[in-house]
Amino acid sequence: MNLQSQELAYTPQVAAATVRLYDKVAKVVPKVEWPVYAPYVQAINTLKRDKSAVILAHNYMTPEIFHCVADFVGDSLQLAREAAKTDAQVIVQAGVHFMAETSKILSPGKTVLIPDLRAGCSLAASITGADVRLLKQKYPGLPVVTYVNTSAEVKAESDVCCTSSNARAVVEDIARERGVDTVIMIPDEFLAQNIAKQTKIKIITWKGHCEVHERFSAADIRSYREANPGVIVLAHPECPPEVIAEADFAGSTAAMIGYVGEKRPKKVVMVTECSMSDNVAVEYPDVEFVRPCNLCPHMKRITLKNIREALETGRHEVTIDPAIAAPARRAVERMLAL
Ligand code: SF4
Repeated sequence: MNLQSQELAYTPQVAAATVRLYDKVAKVVPKVEWPVYAPYVQAINTLKRDKSAVILAHNYMTPEIFHCVADFVGDSLQLAREAAKTDAQVIVQAGVHFMAETSKILSPGKTVLIPDLRAGCSLAASITGADVRLLKQKYPGLPVVTYVNTSAEVKAESDVCCTSSNARAVVEDIARERGVDTVIMIPDEFLAQNIAKQTKIKIITWKGHCEVHERFSAADIRSYREANPGVIVLAHPECPPEVIAEADFAGSTAAMIGYVGEKRPKKVVMVTECSMSDNVAVEYPDVEFVRPCNLCPHMKRITLKNIREALETGRHEVTIDPAIAAPARRAVERMLAL
């Protein structure tokens, strides 16, 4: 049965049970949309308890998922740590496929579900395990640092993983340990170029790009500043280096949230995926957000409807060949141990 085609009713009971959650997101979810979301929010929160499940939601999820059904929210690194720690038997990954794989790598005994198998990533799709083997043949002896936005198969060929939060520390740590001055860092060319500017270690990279962040340009940043005098510009390091050069601060989604929480700029623009600003605006009503919108079509595949269906039916379970999972786990755990 396709549960996604079944509409749930917005009854007075549902309205009463979800009113507090709506108050939380009222600034970013129009009132007219709440009757569509509320029945699913309530159904999901009941199912989670019944099935001993948790929902790990990335910062790019829409606000009704991020604020109303998620148990843990964060960037890739924070979600990977939560996946490793949780006692829940079932993990629903409200994010993209490589994130669900990372959860499974770290929690092999748990059931990990991804609500839509098509939730991919342009970075993860840019490179295969065979590509990494060829790189290692071309540059023998150099360690491979792999961004978490990759398949388990690619992680399995790597020495260590990194995220945009810890990339520089990982690069320097593995270079020191191996006694080399050059590392291979894959697959995000822009992240690698941005990290190369912060370290003495030389970096060989790959031509992968995030289809959301590669679209921002330096001219965009200048136009945000012209239209919004005094605005603080925060940019994700998957953006091209010319964008990072124009920004006031560059960091992972978690680092951007930390910046807003700590500095409380009057007006800010987050140069990243659309939903970030909505999610952060809920927590910081005193900050004005300028919202350029580059949407990640993969992240947006995850909806309340398919999260509910995943919990009801156990669809779609993520599995990884143990021969791939074991070396991939070593690369992820090495990163987490840093
Ligand atoms: S925002 Fe970019 S890196 Fe993140 S999932 Fe989408 S395509 Fe991949």
